[in-house]
Amino acid sequence: MAALNFAPSLAQYQQSARLLAVLILAGCTLLAARLHSLRGFLAGLSLASYFAFIQFSSSDPFVSRCATTLLACDFALLLLVEDVFFDWQAVMWWAGFMAVQWTSFTAFSRWDPAMLGSVATKQFILPFASIGPLELIFALSVILLLMRFLLFSEAVGAGLVWALVAISAGLRNLGLAEAYIALSGLVIGICVIERSHWIAYHDELTGLPGRRAFNEALAGLGAVYGIAIVDVDHFKKFNDTFGHETGDQVLRKVAASLSKVGAGGSAYRCGGEEFALVFPELGLEDCKYYAEEVRKSIEEDTFFARGPSRSNRERPERRTAAARGRHSSAVETSVTVSIGLSEPARPNQDVQEVIAAADKALYNAKHLGRNRIEVFSPRQARTAKPNAPKAAVNKAPASKA
Ligand code: GH3
Ligand code: MG
Ligand code: MG
Repeated sequence: MAALNFAPSLAQYQQSARLLAVLILAGCTLLAARLHSLRGFLAGLSLASYFAFIQFSSSDPFVSRCATTLLACDFALLLLVEDVFFDWQAVMWWAGFMAVQWTSFTAFSRWDPAMLGSVATKQFILPFASIGPLELIFALSVILLLMRFLLFSEAVGAGLVWALVAISAGLRNLGLAEAYIALSGLVIGICVIERSHWIAYHDELTGLPGRRAFNEALAGLGAVYGIAIVDVDHFKKFNDTFGHETGDQVLRKVAASLSKVGAGGSAYRCGGEEFALVFPELGLEDCKYYAEEVRKSIEEDTFFARGPSRSNRERPERRTAAARGRHSSAVETSVTVSIGLSEPARPNQDVQEVIAAADKALYNAKHLGRNRIEVFSPRQARTAKPNAPKAAVNKAPASKA
């Protein structure tokens, strides 16, 4: 009963919220370091610096509004940080920047608080509303973060937006500021975990779901489905002709075309230049129709590639000639894909047998001239004799120059 009647005072509540904020911010930054999210770590560091400032500054609402705007600018600056490698040197630079920024701001807010007040209360009359410079900078930072999120859909980018929303909600009741900072830290921590989940299930080069996601999709298939294995034709030759980097760009283009497949089909990168399309609840004829659409779109998607490129190991005189060639010869080209398609021959058929049949169909498509779809069912796979290897079709990558 005594526990039920316990009503914490505001001071006790604030003390608990402060402790919670410290624990969550420490947890968020440690998690970001463990999961190698540089942007997540720097966001945690920015929140921790903001939190430290709030502890030692006056509770003047003008100072709090200016500090929140500074935090929004820091988050917008984090868009310049590539969240690819965890770099302790970048962490040191950011920690130094935070120390200089908040120390100068503390000194300034104590030296000339009236100046901050005049900035915070200034209003511009815009055609649709009147808005102060602080609100304008805050809104611009959120718009930048939102645009980046809409373009690249990065989890930590979304976390930055939601963390700012939480922090600005805290401005309405400065007594609860620590609770809102804790909430922001929690949001960033969750987004750092979400980023790791994305990395585990997706291929970094193309952004398509990877092999792990493919295996999970297979486990969830019902009685009717189709699986297509897609392989880029003569890709080794393409790499040799235009260079590995151009090859990577082409894989991204192929992945983009595959991801647009219709009828609820999903595309996966299984490894190298091999992809898969999975069509749940779709009969073979329909799968063939939609896979053919994708094959055609890849064939028709021409682009300019510079060539020839040469390996750095070549002799200097050849390298110079190659460099001259690289600048002069941009050719219009395209790649093609071969597709092997299969479906289960009976209910509860082992999905690995269906994949083996699709592989067999792909093998046939390659030997029948490439740039085509072939179908093979597991029933045929069991009765057919293995194909004798035929001479490889060594055609150069299609060049429309
Ligand atoms: P085929 O028409 O018979 O499929 O011929 P191919 O040359 O495409 O087949 P092969 O399997 O011999 O070559 C695959 C090439 O794909 C070899 C490898 O260099 C290239 N490759 C695999 N992964 C990548 C990648 O991530 N980027 C680039 N640029 N090339 C890759
Ligand atoms: Mg291959
Ligand atoms: Mg290939």
